[in-house]
Amino acid sequence: MNTPQEFEPGVTLPTALAPEALCFVWRDDKILARAVDPPELPTLADVMRLGIDGARHYLGRYRGVDCIAFRVDADSAEPAGWQWRGLRSLFLRLPDALLAIAGRAYQVTEWDRSHRFCGRCGTEMRDKPDERAKQCPACGHVVYPRVSPAMMVLVTRGRELLLARANRFPNAMYSALAGFVEPGESIEDCVHREVREEVGIEVKNLKYFASQSWPFPHSLMIAFTAEYASGEARPCDAEIADVKWFPIDALPQLPGSVSISRKLIDATVARLAAQ
Ligand SMILES: [Zn+2]
Repeated sequence: MNTPQEFEPGVTLPTALAPEALCFVWRDDKILARAVDPPELPTLADVMRLGIDGARHYLGRYRGVDCIAFRVDADSAEPAGWQWRGLRSLFLRLPDALLAIAGRAYQVTEWDRSHRFCGRCGTEMRDKPDERAKQCPACGHVVYPRVSPAMMVLVTRGRELLLARANRFPNAMYSALAGFVEPGESIEDCVHREVREEVGIEVKNLKYFASQSWPFPHSLMIAFTAEYASGEARPCDAEIADVKWFPIDALPQLPGSVSISRKLIDATVARLAAQ
């Protein structure tokens, strides 16, 4: 999810909030939405009426409206007329900007509840007033919300794409290769290592495609294309069930259209088809 320009991020909760402020209320990995079609996010007035309490964080302004994140207890009930929904179920139902802010709200509130005490000395942490950070009053240790970079790469060989089926994918779906960056690695190192470890080949001519934030748990997927260089592709990792070269006019079942993997595949197919 990418945040369009209509969102202006902020950290400090304003002293006065209007009743129409937008609220992003998370319960575990589900967000509160009014049970109407298309779904609607609650306003501050709704949240007050529903008696929702808990930690609140300021996120910024969307089209001039203040945005606030809440996290409620895992056993919080579903209010009548409202639903706890998975974020994916709201894709194409809410504007992309609101989905991105919802992802931000998830990450900020999850970080808040999992960093209450200093990881170095165990003292209770305090919010820093001027930035999204917490500081330990005893030892000075500072923590920021965690973002974990990951790479995705679509490897091409002439007019063929290398696609893999991971064990965790629904049955017949194939996608580009992906993996998390390790400490000390550049993103380019990560691409070469993951391709080698997962399918046993070497690639060249990496080209940046796009990136996408995904809040579960806190990844930033950075997508590339690459050209095949050498080796024979085969599953080398227990996570990979199958890997194959597919001609661009005979592709298998692919990920859904809102995912960055699908956008990467579609754009690459269009480019190769035009050559
Ligand atoms: Zn400390």
